[in-house]
Amino acid sequence: MKFGTKAIHAGIEPDPSTGAIMTPIYQTSTYVQASPGDHKGYEYSRTQNPTRDALQKNIAALENGKHGLCFASGLTAIDAVIKLFQPGDEIIAANDLYGGTYRLFTKIFAKYGLKFHFIGMEDIAGIEKYINDNTKLIWLETPTNPMMNIIDIQGAAAIAKKHDLLLAVDNTFSTPYLQTPLDLGADIVMHSVTKYLAGHSDVVMGALVVKDDQLAEDLAFIQNSSGGTPGPQDSFLVLRGIKTLHLRMQRHCENGKAIAEFLANHPKVDKVYWPGLPTHPNHDIAKTQMQDFGGMISFTLKGNDKAEAFKVMESFQYFSLAESLGGVESLVNHPASMTHASIPYEDRQKIGLTDSLIRLSVGIEDVEDLISDLNQAIGS
Ligand SMILES: *Cc1c(COP(=O)(O)O)cnc(C)c1O
Repeated sequence: MKFGTKAIHAGIEPDPSTGAIMTPIYQTSTYVQASPGDHKGYEYSRTQNPTRDALQKNIAALENGKHGLCFASGLTAIDAVIKLFQPGDEIIAANDLYGGTYRLFTKIFAKYGLKFHFIGMEDIAGIEKYINDNTKLIWLETPTNPMMNIIDIQGAAAIAKKHDLLLAVDNTFSTPYLQTPLDLGADIVMHSVTKYLAGHSDVVMGALVVKDDQLAEDLAFIQNSSGGTPGPQDSFLVLRGIKTLHLRMQRHCENGKAIAEFLANHPKVDKVYWPGLPTHPNHDIAKTQMQDFGGMISFTLKGNDKAEAFKVMESFQYFSLAESLGGVESLVNHPASMTHASIPYEDRQKIGLTDSLIRLSVGIEDVEDLISDLNQAIGS
């Protein structure tokens, strides 16, 4: 089955009681048993729910995995992965991570005796220096946020295999339409389903996908024991959203390309960060591991003036100033004061996250309107 067919059909059966083509919202907490222990595979909705089951199978198929697990948020999915480990275990994470992931690692799990090393992974050879007998996991996301660096998943997987570690990839920015980390040797794929998979800015949800049966069992045990599961209504909304994932992604990529090229040629724009530009420092790796380059773009203004950047962001007609990304509507964000404000000023400068850096989540509107909006907002 190819990608678009999977998006629509994988994991989805006509409802056994009525033939309904859309998986119903099984809004129930429990299931009646004929006699104690004699049930139809469903006992309690934290553990199993038919609407969530269909979604989990669908996402697993899209990632070319075997087992999918959905959670109440992307962060709950990450939380479940880290609960596989014990005090004293060490985790090597990329240093350009979603801020909430960094907060979960440093403010919550560090208290329980887990040790995290945050390192630049654009040169994956650097990872090996941090591996010791306690190391259990490598955690990365690519493209990174908001600098749009690309990390070599296959290279990281080779290091993980060599040292018997797990490799987890946060695939939120790419989606399985652009890259399938399990095919590149990763053990766990994680999603903030909130973003492109749901796609309509109306749900918060997370997911994990794995191939290994034992790993799936361990994660399902944590999913059920900790209980951060999504409800059936949200599962239904995401099933519906995913049916158009391939069409939406195609348009996000087309619009992303046109806008990245427009910005790269604009006299007031300094740097453009989009992995599809041949001038992007990791463009070659991006070309080998991604099918296309997505709709996330960051750029800076010449002169690097914060007030100027604010003026641009306040002047948009179609780009809404908001956190989050991956929805059908275009969004703009100021990382230095919004999503990445908790990173110290000096550290932000070092990675290029300057005060005039503007991040776009390019939506699926008509690109001519988006470009004319950028043109009037940036000015001449
Ligand atoms: C949003 C996001 C998360 C967190 O997911 P939530 O659904 O908000 O909990 C994790 N990683 C990335 C890359 C994200 O963009």
